[in-house]
Amino acid sequence: MPFSELIGQDRALGALRAALSRGALHHAYLFAGPEGVGKGTAARLLAQAANCEGGAASGSAAGFRTDPCGACGPCRKIARGTHPDVLALAEERVMAKAGRWEPKGGRTPSKDIVVDQVRDLVDHRLSLRRFEGRRRFVVIDPADALNPQAQNALLKTLEEPPADTTLVLVASSPDALLPTIRSRCARLAFAPLPEALLAERLAAAGRAPEDARLLAALSGGSLGRALALDPDALRAREEAVAAAAALDPGDASTWITFAAAQAEDREAARETCELLQLWLRDVLAFQAAGAAAPLALAELAERTAAAAGALAPADVLRRGEAAREAAAALLQNASPALALERMLIDWFHGELR
Ligand SMILES: [Zn+2]
Repeated sequence: MPFSELIGQDRALGALRAALSRGALHHAYLFAGPEGVGKGTAARLLAQAANCEGGAASGSAAGFRTDPCGACGPCRKIARGTHPDVLALAEERVMAKAGRWEPKGGRTPSKDIVVDQVRDLVDHRLSLRRFEGRRRFVVIDPADALNPQAQNALLKTLEEPPADTTLVLVASSPDALLPTIRSRCARLAFAPLPEALLAERLAAAGRAPEDARLLAALSGGSLGRALALDPDALRAREEAVAAAAALDPGDASTWITFAAAQAEDREAARETCELLQLWLRDVLAFQAAGAAAPLALAELAERTAAAAGALAPADVLRRGEAAREAAAALLQNASPALALERMLIDWFHGELR
């Protein structure tokens, strides 16, 4: 299970490998990037590479291996989460559920990483000598779950880390961390994955090819998110997209009926808005490349072609922006009916804005 199991992250991996081969790992890393792109996997592989004892192909004398073997004792312990020098910190309720943490005083475990957990790490576990590994790791995933108190309790350790120890903070919202935390970490950016690569992986994971393309397009570059999406539910939302595409700009009563029908389920309404963005992107692609354009919503090809002929590209862009705003409003607490009506007013009377 070497670094090749990570896809689409060559830049971050290049930096890690260079540090491994020089034996010059930072004391603290911030792995930043969208969810589901391999940040947690990279943290595990890094700990494995630095502690790997497999094979003869070792790194330079001063350095670590630049690729873990995945099969030796340390590699396997780290993969199982049982290596005594590779410590994990996660949300209190996740750790409690795994039987690895018990909140003091019988509290209900919270969804944060709390100050007690950081103190336990710093005062107890990090004060011990290393057990068996070459380098100790602390993987805090998700680091954005550290509440402010917990972050402050971690500051001193980031400033003066114990010898031969590397902390890896894994965060999809790194801006949720205090600037004092961020500035003490070497930041590695993990990129959203390209859609074509995602579609390939999804097809390899057993998704039908036409589903794979749709899921990849909707996933925001995250394999984790793409795998969590339900293709059947999305197909059902496609009908709503077709209905929106068929609305008569001259008859406002049809928009209100559409908005009211869609507004019954907030989450479904938000998904419809996301699919509308995707469909409008298809319209733009069709305008640029004609029938050869690869469409995410292939079943709507006829409507896509019609819209591509009827609308100016600027109008398509404006409608896409309105759908994006509606989806964002629905993620907050906007009234679904109002958010959808507003989007349609923008679509058909955008010049009035
Ligand atoms: Zn190994």
